[in-house]
Amino acid sequence: MNTKGYDVAVIGAGIIGLSTAYYLKKHQPQLSVCLTDPVQPMSFTSAQSGENYRNWWPHPVMTQFTDHSIDLMEDLAGDIGTQINMTRRGYVLCTRSANIESLLSELHYGYSESKRGSQPAIRVHEAPNSSYLPPDSEMWQQAPDGVDVLKSQKHIQQIFPTLSDQVNTVVHIRRAGAIDSHGMGQHMLRYFKEAGGVRIQSEVMSVTGTDSGFVLETKGAQNRILATQIVNAAGPYLNHIAEMFGETLPVSNVLQQKLAFEDTSQTVPRTLPFCIDLDAQQIDWTEDELASLQHSEEFHWLTETMPGAIHCRPEGGDHGNWVKLGWAFNDRGTSVDRNPELMDAFPEIVVRGAAQLQPALKTYYQQLPRSRRHYGGYYNMTEENWPLIGAMKTDGVFVAGAMSGFGTMAACGAGDLCARTLLNLPLPHYAPALSPARYGNAGLMKELAALSQKGIL
Ligand SMILES: Cc1cc2nc3c(=O)[nH]c(=O)nc-3n(C[C@H](O)[C@H](O)[C@H](O)COP(=O)(O)OP(=O)(O)OC[C@H]3O[C@@H](n4cnc5c(N)ncnc54)[C@H](O)[C@@H]3O)c2cc1C
Repeated sequence: MNTKGYDVAVIGAGIIGLSTAYYLKKHQPQLSVCLTDPVQPMSFTSAQSGENYRNWWPHPVMTQFTDHSIDLMEDLAGDIGTQINMTRRGYVLCTRSANIESLLSELHYGYSESKRGSQPAIRVHEAPNSSYLPPDSEMWQQAPDGVDVLKSQKHIQQIFPTLSDQVNTVVHIRRAGAIDSHGMGQHMLRYFKEAGGVRIQSEVMSVTGTDSGFVLETKGAQNRILATQIVNAAGPYLNHIAEMFGETLPVSNVLQQKLAFEDTSQTVPRTLPFCIDLDAQQIDWTEDELASLQHSEEFHWLTETMPGAIHCRPEGGDHGNWVKLGWAFNDRGTSVDRNPELMDAFPEIVVRGAAQLQPALKTYYQQLPRSRRHYGGYYNMTEENWPLIGAMKTDGVFVAGAMSGFGTMAACGAGDLCARTLLNLPLPHYAPALSPARYGNAGLMKELAALSQKGIL
């Protein structure tokens, strides 16, 4: 039996636990910190991330939080450069609608309290013009800030010729792109270890409170960890850990899937930004397929209107030849399995759905390339799709979780915020809104319940 004492024990070595451990050591190098997880760092949910980031949200609190996280990622990109391979071609939101009043007012509200100098511009382009900067370069340093709204079909087809010619409006979010989250996690782990942090490969089985802190029993009882404070960063197992303190957090786990494959027919230009189809749709089935689905109890739902937000982007950089598709249409909470069972039909469903925006993808109906990867993981999330970062009810215990489909882009911001809370350092003004304490703020919860969008992608 190995018993060791630490100031802080971080439970979970996904991107959120790693980031919290990293910022604890950054802010207070003398602090003794251990990071415990039974599996390899970044190997559970964090291994499934699409590695996309954006500062586009329906509420200013989430915009400010992710803007700060992107600031921190830029600092990292400045320090370690290629290791995190941060690119920025933006997010391209597409709709067939020409009337975008409500979309514009959502954009204005989302960016209304931006603290990045002046409020980012929302530039509306009614006709083709040279003031719009196309996303030719992937370099984040060269990308403009703000949002461009393209309202001319001709302009849209000039810039994005593979998009459906039915698209009438494109909203181009500029502070958005992709990042190598594994490079980021590896850097954080290396820094943490070099700063004296200790990684323990064990599963925490129980926690007991003592006068001076906590005793954590681990599986096989090879390690007993004594800690003054604890961070719960257990991802989809957030509530499993919370229950060890007799607490329940308002989170559920929803399985979401992705498909990546070799774009053998070169349907998607390598310079295409991350594209999102905002419109709800009927999936493009043939008449025979439709008839058979309509008679199926299990799959009838696939003949009904499906939600928008299907997305597509090239994968592997300008010289790669893969594409990645995703569609977070599932909204049912489930129990967690280390090896979740995926839906066999998902690849065909997502290709059909994505082809409504990128018609060239139709070439893959019923004949996806052999080189492909169908994968998935859990969005551990609250009803309002905001994270939980801050003190739990039990004194000395903190949570950094409920990171849904934004944990990669928000990792730096979440780790920094959790570390600051634990260390009693100055906090950003939005900290209470992201902490479990927000459930005591009836006005905020009412406002969140009334939002028509939750920012789920
Ligand atoms: C399909 C998919 C696509 C996504 N795409 C994006 C994207 O494009 N951009 C983005 O920003 N985000 C994306 N996300 C979200 C992002 O991946 C997650 O929010 C993030 O990885 C969550 O990290 P985590 O550290 O909280 O959880 P995890 O990575 O799951 O880490 C939690 C860790 O806790 C450990 N643990 C659990 N129980 C115990 C215990 N008892 N003792 C010790 N350790 C324990 C687990 O083993 C695990 O390693 C996506 C998610 C999915 C599923």
